[in-house]
Amino acid sequence: MLFDTLAHMNSQTHFGYESVDVSEKADKVMGVFSSVANKYDIMNDAMSAGMHRLWKRRMFSVAAVKPGSTVLDVAAGSGDISIGFMKKMKREGRVILTDLNGSMLAEGARRVLDEGLLPGKADCIQSDGTKLAFADNSFDVVSIAFGLRNFVDIEAGLAEFYRVLKPGGQFICLEFSRPVLPLLDVAYDAYSFNVIPAMGEWITGDRDSYQYLVESIRRFPDQKRFAKLIDWAGFELVKHENMTGGIVALHRGYKC
Ligand code: SAM
Repeated sequence: MLFDTLAHMNSQTHFGYESVDVSEKADKVMGVFSSVANKYDIMNDAMSAGMHRLWKRRMFSVAAVKPGSTVLDVAAGSGDISIGFMKKMKREGRVILTDLNGSMLAEGARRVLDEGLLPGKADCIQSDGTKLAFADNSFDVVSIAFGLRNFVDIEAGLAEFYRVLKPGGQFICLEFSRPVLPLLDVAYDAYSFNVIPAMGEWITGDRDSYQYLVESIRRFPDQKRFAKLIDWAGFELVKHENMTGGIVALHRGYKC
């Protein structure tokens, strides 16, 4: 990993603020999402006060999806992004939801079926975002929302997203980032560390998973470093925009 070279040489990586063996992280991340899967959507609304819907809405409007597109939604989880894209595509085309975690993907499958999106329009395929089970140059758009910071190897994920995109295709990523407004970081840290784990305990019965969430956000590269990683993976015309003062950033790039 470009930004964790020493840690990587020692076969150590981070799981939130904890240092763990690289081989352990994927299982730990799986444990987090298996534990919270059935309360994941409620918790998203509660801890963001509904803001995640606005962040996702901006992603839908900026994404290069149109009727007839073929889209891969990596780390799709409970399916918000796939469903939003399908609406923008007027249900013409195909979205594949992929996720490493079967419990999260089952939530996604349930929701796309509730939306009347049958197999062939929206398909759920369990796979690791760093080893995607798709051919080169397959998708018009590859998206990921709030997933990449959970990857053991972010660069391997970006390389895979690049590989499966068609030339001319768009990569788009929504992820937590760094507050850029004065004093917002102080208020955001106080809220994150004092309120979110307690809310996680109350709503999902799992404080530790939400402690991991707030820590993993701090371990993820800030908006500029992440833009460089996307660039190094081969994408062109890379740009990003901050939302809610940088608490979240929306990055995009193209395979030219
Ligand atoms: N994209 C959804 C959303 O915005 O609501 C779900 C995001 S959820 C915070 C993160 C998801 O990343 C989880 O469903 C988790 O299983 C998935 N994930 C973590 N590591 C992954 C990997 N290596 N490959 C694919 N999915 C992964």
